[in-house]
Amino acid sequence: MALPEVPLPTATVAGVPVDTRHWIGGTRLASADPDATAAPYFTTHSPIDGAPLAGIARGGAAEARAAVAAARDAFPGWAATPPAERARLLHAVADGVEARAEDLARVETADNGALLRSHRRGVMPRVAHNFRYFADRLLALGHPDLTTRGHTHHVTWEPAGPAALITPWNAPLMLASWKAAPALAAGSTVVLKPAEWTPLTASLLADITHEAGLPPGVFNLVQGYGAEAGAPLVADPGVRRISFTGSVPTARRIARAAAEHLTPCSFELGGKSPLLVLADADPGLAADLAVEQYDNAGQVCLAATRVLVEESARDAFLGHFLDRVTKLTQGDPRDEATGVGPCIHPRHVERVDGFVRRALAAGATPVIGGGPHPGLGGTYYLPTLLTGVAQDSEIVQEEVFGPVLTLQTFPDGDDDTAVRLANGTRFGLAATLATGDRERAERIAARLVAGTVWINCFFVRDLSAPFGGSRQSGVGREGGDWSFDFYCDIKNTVTAPGAGEVARHG
Ligand code: ADP
Repeated sequence: MALPEVPLPTATVAGVPVDTRHWIGGTRLASADPDATAAPYFTTHSPIDGAPLAGIARGGAAEARAAVAAARDAFPGWAATPPAERARLLHAVADGVEARAEDLARVETADNGALLRSHRRGVMPRVAHNFRYFADRLLALGHPDLTTRGHTHHVTWEPAGPAALITPWNAPLMLASWKAAPALAAGSTVVLKPAEWTPLTASLLADITHEAGLPPGVFNLVQGYGAEAGAPLVADPGVRRISFTGSVPTARRIARAAAEHLTPCSFELGGKSPLLVLADADPGLAADLAVEQYDNAGQVCLAATRVLVEESARDAFLGHFLDRVTKLTQGDPRDEATGVGPCIHPRHVERVDGFVRRALAAGATPVIGGGPHPGLGGTYYLPTLLTGVAQDSEIVQEEVFGPVLTLQTFPDGDDDTAVRLANGTRFGLAATLATGDRERAERIAARLVAGTVWINCFFVRDLSAPFGGSRQSGVGREGGDWSFDFYCDIKNTVTAPGAGEVARHG
């Protein structure tokens, strides 16, 4: 459908020009304003200081429909593009990400408040790697034919059709690329709807895909609020896959919309992951692992926010923990020295603080933190560790998504209690163990309900490995061939032995 094309001044964020309109069918489009009541734009603010950064096109049903139509039109051509050519184009996208890595890092930090140095050194290289990895993986896809009574079974991965990609604000470009790269490699076209609190780097990615030579309609971007732009997108019958990372209540809404057309969904949701510190663990390593959970101000779905310490290791662990955490500097995420930056939004800080206040009222004791930063205020929340928390309390059961950890202990040698506490939430995303006893760790790991278990490490990922959550932490697995399985319809072609022979069954 035709949408009005309104030229907008591009916003300049952190010195980088960003076109904040949608990107649909290879064209920049502003929002239609069908009833002239809703503002066709919304504003994104920086969590660093609350400054308004840019007006963003505010998409709705018309834009979602137009983007899916563009993705459908482009799909046959993209699906038929030889894998080597698709891979070449995805490597060109990776080249573009690398060429613009500094711009991407600065804009992302301005928009979501995570540390500039980790965007520069970790995240943006990883975004490029996502495209390179899935481009290469595409060319290696396949497994040997099977044979049954002389018949060959030849399995192929057929691109499924347009995919809706819905991403959250805590790792905007990382997660957009983690979904877009395998979908595009698989031969599906995509419509990305980034989170309304962090819309900017997705817009730069649209430019990069265009400059890399992706045909119009292969990569589309719709900006807007979840209820206005996301909901009609996931409900569109032209969408053949939905990949979502975000909260459990939103996943339920998306699943209900997807049910109408039986659209397959991949969900990566929240977590309340444990960090198990066994008595023979190196207390320094255990403390390092605990302090790492304050990265991105704790706004990480994988974060091991429940520290479960074997009783006799408690004091040594706390000593090392306090030693490290008091050296953490909180402040502007653009400063090299900063270890903990702001949370995403004042509304989110209120939510985080609500959890902590209710925990304190219920009898918890803060070892450190316990409220907003007294000097920085606004979106800056103190790294917090609470003790005196009950297993069935809200602070232990619910995902806070802020720099808030709890500490519980279990009796020495009591693996059953350790496992019961670790598994005792409705989530099952990840678990981390600090231990000096590999065999015991493996025995415990085998009993944990988690998509990923890390032993004496944290956040080590390999794109070939499966990633996802059990229970209410997710549906399905992403990574490696699991991603291709999701974005494709898998076909088995069975051929009888001998040319021209008719197969006899039974
Ligand atoms: P949070 O509560 O942390 O913002 P959400 O799960 O609500 O997390 O948001 C994650 C993403 O889901 C965002 O891009 C948001 O706009 C989108 N979203 C929210 N509601 C819906 C919906 N009903 N349908 C599709 N997408 C949605």
